Amino acid sequence: MKTKKVFIEIPLVEVPSSHPRRESLVLREKLVNAMIKGIVVPHGLIAHGRGECFDYLLGERTQPFAKKAIEAAAAALILAKNPVISVNGNSAALAAKHIVELAKVVDADIEVNLFYRTYRREQAIAQLLRSFGASKVLGVGEDADAVIPELHSERRRVSSRGILRADVVLVPLEDGDRTQALVNMGKLVIAIDLNPLSRTSMSANITIVDNVVRAIPLLVETARRLIKEDNRYLRSILRNYDNRATLAEAINFIAKRLVNLSKELSSAPRGS
Ligand code: ATP
Repeated sequence: MKTKKVFIEIPLVEVPSSHPRRESLVLREKLVNAMIKGIVVPHGLIAHGRGECFDYLLGERTQPFAKKAIEAAAAALILAKNPVISVNGNSAALAAKHIVELAKVVDADIEVNLFYRTYRREQAIAQLLRSFGASKVLGVGEDADAVIPELHSERRRVSSRGILRADVVLVPLEDGDRTQALVNMGKLVIAIDLNPLSRTSMSANITIVDNVVRAIPLLVETARRLIKEDNRYLRSILRNYDNRATLAEAINFIAKRLVNLSKELSSAPRGS
């Protein structure tokens, strides 16, 4: 891929501990710092902005429909023969530590998969994951030796030891085309996406409508609990899970919340 080098001067700011939106600003700073290190591309910042908007609508909390999806996701990852966690720049910048933890708990491989792929970026992401204890990171350089049929972006390049042979793939922050292509290959795809309307959310088998910074730690905790259960129980969780119902619940939650907020505003005394 051809690359372009740019020089941007970015003032580094300390987020005040008293700021009412501190958590959200800290995440932005994390992503900007990851961009400086070559982990995140500017397009990733735009994707994050879209996510932030949906997080606002979701009340910036893990809602019951996300918890249900997390339970199904944990069951699927534990039952899988070859589970793989696909990692891009944003998910590495925001959740590398918990991604590595999750991979250990469910015995999954970790694979770097990027839309804007350069060797240097792949290496920077792998290095970050290794700094949190990942012993093996697939999809770097020559290891991305296979292709997903139907796809034209750089995201088509995968490892024959990882995503190509995986039966379950977790895709935190994905694009709709690749999600659909992975589903078409017969894989069970688990997406984490704050936007319940995205093509990714709509085409995954299990969609966790939540922020990766909350969803992945909760996925680790849930997997730790469920790994003690027998396979019959885990299969029953999966059988009873309905992704369309989960998405409908998420959309309904947003719609109701907006109606309630507007009612509160219109019933408040003028000037308050
Ligand atoms: P699609 O192709 O699936 O319709 P899109 O074009 O919106 O999606 P991108 O711009 O590639 O997709 O990816 C951004 C997606 O990631 C958005 O749907 C956004 O809501 C989601 N997202 C961004 N940040 C986060 C986050 N921290 N946690 C979970 N989801 C996020």
